[in-house]
Amino acid sequence: MHDPTIELHAALETFPAGISLLDADMRLVFANKEAREALGVAATFAPGVSIEAIAADDTLPGLAGAIADALCEGLGAEPKHVLRWRHDDGPTLEVITVPVAGGGFVTTYTDISNRVRSEALLAGQAHVLQLIAQGKPLAHVLEHLMLLIDGQVDGIRSSVLLLDAEGKHVKHGAAPHLDPEYCKLIDGVAIGPGVGSCGTAAFTGQQVIVTDIATHPYWAPFKDLAAAFGLGSCWSTPIFSAAGKVLGTFAMYSGTVRAPSQHEQDIVEVATRIAGIAIERKQIEERISFMARHDALTGLPNRSTLSETVAEAVRQAQVSGRWASVVFVDLDNFKMVNDSLGHAAGDALLRIMADRMRASVRTGDTVVRLGGDEFVIVLADQAPACESLRHQVEQVKRAICEPVTLGERAFAITSSMGIATYPRDGADADTLLANADAAMYRSKQGGRDDVRFHAPEQSPSSEDPLALRIDLQSAVARNEFVLHYQPQIDFATGRVVAVEALIRWQHPSQGLLAPATFIGTAEETGLIVPIGDWVLKQACCQAKAWHDAGFASLRMCVNVSARQFRGDGLVRSVVEALAESGLASRFLELELTESLLVQDTRSAIATIEALQDLGVAVSIDDFGTGHSSLGALKTFPVSRLKIDKSFIHGLAQQSGKAVASAVVSLGHALDLMVVAEGVETEAQADFLASIGCDIAQGYFYSQPQSAAALECLLAKQGDGTGMRGAA
Ligand code: C2E
Ligand code: MG
Ligand code: MG
Repeated sequence: MHDPTIELHAALETFPAGISLLDADMRLVFANKEAREALGVAATFAPGVSIEAIAADDTLPGLAGAIADALCEGLGAEPKHVLRWRHDDGPTLEVITVPVAGGGFVTTYTDISNRVRSEALLAGQAHVLQLIAQGKPLAHVLEHLMLLIDGQVDGIRSSVLLLDAEGKHVKHGAAPHLDPEYCKLIDGVAIGPGVGSCGTAAFTGQQVIVTDIATHPYWAPFKDLAAAFGLGSCWSTPIFSAAGKVLGTFAMYSGTVRAPSQHEQDIVEVATRIAGIAIERKQIEERISFMARHDALTGLPNRSTLSETVAEAVRQAQVSGRWASVVFVDLDNFKMVNDSLGHAAGDALLRIMADRMRASVRTGDTVVRLGGDEFVIVLADQAPACESLRHQVEQVKRAICEPVTLGERAFAITSSMGIATYPRDGADADTLLANADAAMYRSKQGGRDDVRFHAPEQSPSSEDPLALRIDLQSAVARNEFVLHYQPQIDFATGRVVAVEALIRWQHPSQGLLAPATFIGTAEETGLIVPIGDWVLKQACCQAKAWHDAGFASLRMCVNVSARQFRGDGLVRSVVEALAESGLASRFLELELTESLLVQDTRSAIATIEALQDLGVAVSIDDFGTGHSSLGALKTFPVSRLKIDKSFIHGLAQQSGKAVASAVVSLGHALDLMVVAEGVETEAQADFLASIGCDIAQGYFYSQPQSAAALECLLAKQGDGTGMRGAA
């Protein structure tokens, strides 16, 4: 017999959503299979049980209680009551209750998990996109994205790896649910065909589905690692930029051995798209910020970064107790190159110079292009010693003036530099920059191709002679002097035959001071005597050391001042210095000035003769600036004449040439060797050689340098190339 009620029951029982019926007294009179499961009464259900009784059973999920509460409050004006319900890891249900016409209520239970998930996915995507738009750090954005993805698919741990700029290695991006230890181990892996799922996907640009890590050949090298972290399968998909460049990979790891479902593949789509946007956006940001902070022509950091870089170097130096220096560099005659060879050549030259400067400093140092032909080098973390600073700067200077070939033309470009050093020339970035700039300006003014240190115009001690005296006294005690050496070159062979020792004072607060700032006071106070003794000893020991190092026959020239010469101690000091150092006397030469000789001719002759008896040579320094007649030279048994640099600088004029020629021939007539001081240009050198001058000294060949730097120079000429305008 056809019974519609039974048929309806049967149909409702298997209906793919839950449905239940309460009578007017709130007794559960009907509940199909899905509804019984939702209420938790599947096994015990007996029609007619009151909903309150079900609600009171606290072993059940509690949905009955929630429905009862809603009904007790009354539906009010609402035609229906809607409730979202989720118990533990179960599905999310939408529970809708509506009154029935004759009293009672009907309730439906619908699984809306998928809808909830896709809503969450949409909201999550919006949130991640918002993070991207807000410029949040990439790691933060990717972390959120991965959390979103992992919330969408059960049992999946997902990760993003980023491809490095060279496109060779992957680095960690985000993987909130993977073991950090595992992430660390794959960070930096080189990509390639058959390198795991991600290494392969990044390399080929194709999705790589590995269903069983334990057996797949791509995973052979990593399979134990993966097993240790409970990873069964790994599906990796490349992340692309808008232009189709691989930016990284997105991977889903499952603990089980399987392939992804369609739903999971859909999620992969979303993840790779958003990750691509995030990564590309970050790269664009980085490029923009790089462009804002770098010079387009040379790729060097630009002016905007300078104060910050100097301030950082100063901060480091404050902590470490070391030095930091700012070096202003201006290329000499750059405008001429630009004007005569054209702007393209000028640009090429600037690029070459930028590369050379960058290559000649250490990694922690920074070369900044200010604009035009002006650069600033920030030397960080320096040893607190003028010699090494000078050495560093000279290295840059040498690199700049290596010959350049542009098109058909080969030439060399010189530079003018100014240096200011923390702590002695300023305590902050602005002061250091201003002082280095001023020093560079002086080096330009002084005729270019020069390195100038910051020299305070009004240093405390030059303002206050007493302070200078006191300082100088303690300088002797504290051994604050150093010798620099300037080579003398034989015109005939082009080789270094002698060096002149030139004293510098490493002042504790004012830096390296030139002799002009303190020799006068040293003479007045008599301190020149102990200082002079120190110079003699130091110079003789250095000469002996060079002889022992294989530079035999190198002569050492030492300046002697009037005060030293006048007393009777000079000969004794010389004897001591020679004895202590073991230097043979014929390699020592003392430089005296004319004025010193004319003061007390008789005793001067006696002293010089005593020195000659020892085998020590004597030369006349700064010849031409004193008042002695050339003829008077005959009186003194000297062996060399050093023509003062003012004559050499006068060579540009015809009259200057005539004077220099006269001095050279006169010196030769008196059987004296003639040394030209202050040779700065090739033209001067050529002219002096043409008039038979014997020896040259000057910046054209080399600045006075530290012992270590000079030794390098000597070692270089060991190959027989000689020296011609090496400076
Ligand atoms: P000087 O003996 O005539 O030394 C040569 C000076 O000319 C040095 O200056 C040197 O750096 C500089 N010079 C070298 N080549 C060139 C060049 O091509 N162009 C120019 N414009 N200058 C060049 P510095 O080192 O400043 O010494 C200055 C003076 O101080 C020396 O003149 C010397 O009279 C004196 N002096 C240096 N060391 C000592 C020392 O140990 N004892 C004494 N008593 N006097 C010293
Ligand atoms: Mg001299
Ligand atoms: Mg001189």
